[in-house]
Amino acid sequence: ANQILSGYGTTIFTVMSALAQEHGAVNLGQGFPDWEGPEEVRRIAAEGLMNGYNQYPPMAGIPELRRAVAAHDRRFYGMDVDPMREVIITSGATEALAAALLGLLNPGDEVVLIEPLYDSYLPIVQLAGAVPRLVRVEPPLWDLPRAALAAAFGPKTRMLVMNSPMNPTGKVFSDDDLAFIADLVKAHDAIAVCDEVHEHLVFDGRRHTPLMTLPGMRERTVRIGSAGKTFSLTGWKVGYLVADAPIAAALGRAHQFLTFTTPPNLQQAVAHGLSMDRSYFDDLAAGLAAKRDLLSDGLRRVGFDVLKADGTYFIGADIRPLVGEMDDAEFSRRLTIEAGVTCLPFSAFYQAGDIRNFVRFCFCKRESVLEEAVGRLERFF
Ligand code: PMP
Ligand code: GLN
Repeated sequence: ANQILSGYGTTIFTVMSALAQEHGAVNLGQGFPDWEGPEEVRRIAAEGLMNGYNQYPPMAGIPELRRAVAAHDRRFYGMDVDPMREVIITSGATEALAAALLGLLNPGDEVVLIEPLYDSYLPIVQLAGAVPRLVRVEPPLWDLPRAALAAAFGPKTRMLVMNSPMNPTGKVFSDDDLAFIADLVKAHDAIAVCDEVHEHLVFDGRRHTPLMTLPGMRERTVRIGSAGKTFSLTGWKVGYLVADAPIAAALGRAHQFLTFTTPPNLQQAVAHGLSMDRSYFDDLAAGLAAKRDLLSDGLRRVGFDVLKADGTYFIGADIRPLVGEMDDAEFSRRLTIEAGVTCLPFSAFYQAGDIRNFVRFCFCKRESVLEEAVGRLERFF
């Protein structure tokens, strides 16, 4: 077996979803909605299957979707993107991340990453033979430690990987943070890989700003999005990346050997989704914000110290007011088995696994499901 991957167990998402199922728990662990995505989008995918849209599409994605991604980035962010040279359609953001890292990194390159981090980043950095340099945002507000971030950059830095809105914290990086980050990336002649899968899941009137739109960042940023979160279709695995043409060419060389293509009917449907009215995107965020409030209030009543989430599907909660110093993974197991509610331990999002007081609850569920979860917790504690 591969020595690097042998160091990793089964992902926490799979482990906890299986445990939730085994014990009939309300699963607020792995992040997936319990409703179907837009009917008009699903209908196009279904019709595409029946109308002979079933052979290999172009390697970089169908032109219709690449144009839709460019138009989306113009509409929401004022960006000017060449759909044929600067957009690649991937099998989810997961593949886009792998293509970006494998396509750009050489052995010995250093990569700056911000903890807590999504679980696929580190293994890919390591498979590329690159060296991770980790910096932590600190609770309760997940502030960016600017001095530590600056110190993590050095002569070997090739790349920064960041995620805003951020999983699992729900943090949306401020414009000040982004400007600070951009200056470091430019000063070290590095590339930023920005995981922006939650770009449309931003609440309370805030808006997502791609790092790519900051001065001097257009030609040194890879912007990654996914239909999974934007259209509540997490099983589809249709992602996209946007990068300056020379970078996109390097990523394309990795993409061609990873998956080569992504199902054409799904691409066609996502192209339609990206061109839907503004109201679709606004309603998605407003609906999720209401769910966040419902679950946050409920968890506070139960006794958790609930942290603020400005975006994503997720809220972080400090378990200490309820159980004192208990291991977060043990807490998550026991909550599933004994209280019938599943959450995820934050330690799974740290390389050393040493932050053990927080758990992540996912709120992208129907109101009745969130109420059932809170009810179970109220009876348990
Ligand atoms: N990055 C982050 C931060 C995520 O939360 C997820 C899960 N949606 C992914 C990447 C993977 O996205 P996809 O399902 O499109 O591969
Ligand atoms: N992105 C989702 C989450 O963070 C699911 C990831 C997965 O299942 N691999 O929960």
